[in-house]
Amino acid sequence: MSVARVSAQLGRRGMVAAGRGLRWGSSATVSDEVLRPDNSQSDTMMDIGTRRVYNEDHDLLRTMCRRWWEQEVVPNHAKWEEEGSVSRELWASAGANGFLAMTTPEEYGGAGGSILDASIMWEEQSYTGCTGPGFAIHSDICAPYIVNWGTEEQKHKWLPDIVAGTCIAALGMTEPAAGSDLQGMKTTAVRDGDDWVINGSKVFITNGQMSNLLILAAKTDPTAAKPSAGMSLFLVDTSLPGFARGKNLKKVGMKAQDTSELFFDDLRVPNSCILGGDAGLNRGFYMMMTELPQERLLIAGMGVAAAEACFEWTRDYVKDRKAFGTSLYKGLQTVRHELAEIKTETAVARAFYDSCLQLHHEGRLDSQMASMAKYYCTDLQNSVANRCLQLFGGWGYMTEYPIARAFIDGRVQQIYGGSNEIMKELIARSI
Ligand SMILES: Cc1cc2nc3c(=O)[nH]c(=O)nc-3n(C[C@H](O)[C@H](O)[C@H](O)COP(=O)(O)OP(=O)(O)OC[C@H]3O[C@@H](n4cnc5c(N)ncnc54)[C@H](O)[C@@H]3O)c2cc1C
Repeated sequence: MSVARVSAQLGRRGMVAAGRGLRWGSSATVSDEVLRPDNSQSDTMMDIGTRRVYNEDHDLLRTMCRRWWEQEVVPNHAKWEEEGSVSRELWASAGANGFLAMTTPEEYGGAGGSILDASIMWEEQSYTGCTGPGFAIHSDICAPYIVNWGTEEQKHKWLPDIVAGTCIAALGMTEPAAGSDLQGMKTTAVRDGDDWVINGSKVFITNGQMSNLLILAAKTDPTAAKPSAGMSLFLVDTSLPGFARGKNLKKVGMKAQDTSELFFDDLRVPNSCILGGDAGLNRGFYMMMTELPQERLLIAGMGVAAAEACFEWTRDYVKDRKAFGTSLYKGLQTVRHELAEIKTETAVARAFYDSCLQLHHEGRLDSQMASMAKYYCTDLQNSVANRCLQLFGGWGYMTEYPIARAFIDGRVQQIYGGSNEIMKELIARSI
């Protein structure tokens, strides 16, 4: 929907109130200035101009993002699925348009945007159903590690290229024998003069084939009382000798996103590569635990947006699909009730997620809320994709249909970022 149509629609409903003057990146929202509808009150759940967490500047950003996804990604995605990864040119295009690492401060080449700005990119990706580009982990997981914990030298060295999309970032935590239980990791870094020598391996690493920078978790103090007190994060240039990529792993879904094993064989890095410098030594686990709520929030956000997209594709399909002399929607109450339930459940998840997003924007999101959002929204995403696929009948099982790919691609959302079982453990701890 165009911005003009958004304004026209809002005006028609009498929902525009006085007051503007907010900028992209402003810390305020317009909830007290403009009465915006919930997206479930609008023509479609993907309409621009809805949701009280955003303002009209966000609408403009969303309009630009949406156009970019539709023009640059959608037409090429099937080819990238065949190839197993997206192109480097796509990364550069996203960077040139200002769509990567949007929250990076201006002094390091970023736009100094807010998490609300960044969230628009996650959602627009989900609305297209194009899961290939690993932008979210690059922009809103990896870059914040450097912004929040890096030394000045590290920020100036890495962030401008991350924003430009010329340096692709990855995060290496999981190992073959240590996923949920990160404290069981085996990768070690041993001090040798001014260097550290790293040995070990990682698995399931998003952007693993394309990455220029790996934020790598390793054990730096094997004598620590608890493993969590002896881990550090290293900023590893992936062109260094001793760094090797395994194969691009064959996954159930997300076939255009590269996911890799990585190996470190006497990989030598200078001490200046420890994230945060000397102050970061043995603080890696604490840094990871601090950054995880944002990772979980963005997974939840992609989950709700994916559910909304599934609902909209299915709404169109069942209204168009003829059976027994009428459309599936008109003819069958079971179909109407299924869509009513899906829309209601999705709207409830949307309200909770938007509340979490607002809390995070204000620096108040805690681990419990982020875990609740991650598990609930990704379980819902999978339930919605499954039920919507059923309404497409046999066509829903054909991968040329977005609903089939949403069903396949969404499954991993319940596994990564901390599995949903782990989310329940974290929530239970606070009960
Ligand atoms: C496509 C993809 C991309 C990924 N990207 C990255 C990445 O970029 N970087 C990275 O570091 N990792 C990445 N991962 C790894 C991901 O985070 C892990 O797979 C995940 O944390 C689960 O770990 P695991 O696979 O070792 O499973 P396990 O930890 O072995 O878990 C197996 C099962 O046991 C359950 N379980 C484990 N512990 C408990 C418990 N305490 N209570 C209840 N149930 C439990 C789990 O929920 C799960 O169902 C990715 C994974 C995939 C599939």
